[in-house]
Amino acid sequence: MGQGLSCWHGQGNGMLRAVKFGDLDAVEALLERYPTLSELSTVYGRQSVLHLAAASGHIEILSMLLNRSVNPDLLNRHKQTPLMLAAMHGNISCVSKLLEAGANVLMFDSVKGRTCLHHAAYYGHSHCLEAILSAAQSSPVSASWGYARFVNIRDGRGATPLHLAARQAHDRCVHILLENGALVCASTSRYGYPGSSPLHLAAQVGSLDCIRELLAWGADRLQRDSSGRIPYVVALKHKHNACAALLDPASAEPLVWPSPLKLISELNHEAKALLEKALMDANKEREKSILKGTLYSLPSPSRSEVGVDDDVSEASETDLCCICFDQLCSIEVQDCSHRMCAQCILSLCCHNKPNPTTSCLAPPICPFCRSSISGLVVAKVRVPEEPDHHDITEVSSSSKPRKSWKSQGLCEGSSSLKGLLVMGSFKMGGRLSAENEWIDKP
Ligand SMILES: [Zn+2]
Ligand SMILES: [Zn+2]
Repeated sequence: MGQGLSCWHGQGNGMLRAVKFGDLDAVEALLERYPTLSELSTVYGRQSVLHLAAASGHIEILSMLLNRSVNPDLLNRHKQTPLMLAAMHGNISCVSKLLEAGANVLMFDSVKGRTCLHHAAYYGHSHCLEAILSAAQSSPVSASWGYARFVNIRDGRGATPLHLAARQAHDRCVHILLENGALVCASTSRYGYPGSSPLHLAAQVGSLDCIRELLAWGADRLQRDSSGRIPYVVALKHKHNACAALLDPASAEPLVWPSPLKLISELNHEAKALLEKALMDANKEREKSILKGTLYSLPSPSRSEVGVDDDVSEASETDLCCICFDQLCSIEVQDCSHRMCAQCILSLCCHNKPNPTTSCLAPPICPFCRSSISGLVVAKVRVPEEPDHHDITEVSSSSKPRKSWKSQGLCEGSSSLKGLLVMGSFKMGGRLSAENEWIDKP
């Protein structure tokens, strides 16, 4: 009360103004003279100075306040925390600082019952989303609530962060959420009534990229919303013809990322990125034939296709995949070391749409030697016999270590063959085993 009133006094007003405009010196001087000003808040909105700093992204002021042990979880009139405001405005440095200071990620505002994760997803701030998810993984939240539950947390209207990201057409956020265990077929239904799936919402706004992501993670084209409509009908109604073509249950099923396969969940980052890209490329090829019949043509050809063609034209025979004779070998099977391209290994793993009820599928078998595949790694560059050892760096970069490696930044910082070999090795780091924890949970 007293603090609220004090903003009518000179110092209070000065303080609020200084925080809002990011005048660090003025804030510092005021706090020196009147330390209680750090607890100041506006009268009507009950926005604390910490809220103002978080919303306007003034990281130095925010840090200064947190260092003076201002509570990071102060609430404004709408029960919003500074972390929620920072996530709404995409102020990643403020988000990180607040998380570092122990801000609670599991608070619900009183407007729509949303958490900071909802706000980051709704406004499409993927970096904030990632920061919150990674904090949640190591915070007491995952111990008490469970990480999978947190990722699929519902707002007051039953929407998960994935629903909000899909509805706002934020495909990057959709991707991150799916990778972190968001349920692709979650329905906004409550109290037993059917609701919308993320696919319905993406169809409504006509986001091709979101639809691609959702389909690749196994979204169901036949799921019905509260009016009994499948996503295809929703897309047609809103005149999103290209989306409708992909959502048409009569058109070819897209390849689905085999996330329940233990093998895939244990992939190292580089191999996973390669396979993900291959999956998206394969689905874009399918799209082309699906969309050929419609009035719609794809707005931009996928960047990767150009790269793939380049690679093929340069390919030496040893690098060419022996299954399709079309792509370069980019994946190596363990333990037999047979090599094939990412597309072929994917079609091996994605042959059947994984059944969600029986997530323990038998591991795929190497088509060359019939031994079961225990792991996948990025294929090593095959260096033709070169007598001179010093040339290896040269050779590895000139004998085309795949466009895709470069495009994914795999060569950054270590162009040497040794570096690539180390990166290509199978890793089962802490992050991967952490992922498995929630994959096994329902
Ligand atoms: Zn192949
Ligand atoms: Zn083999």
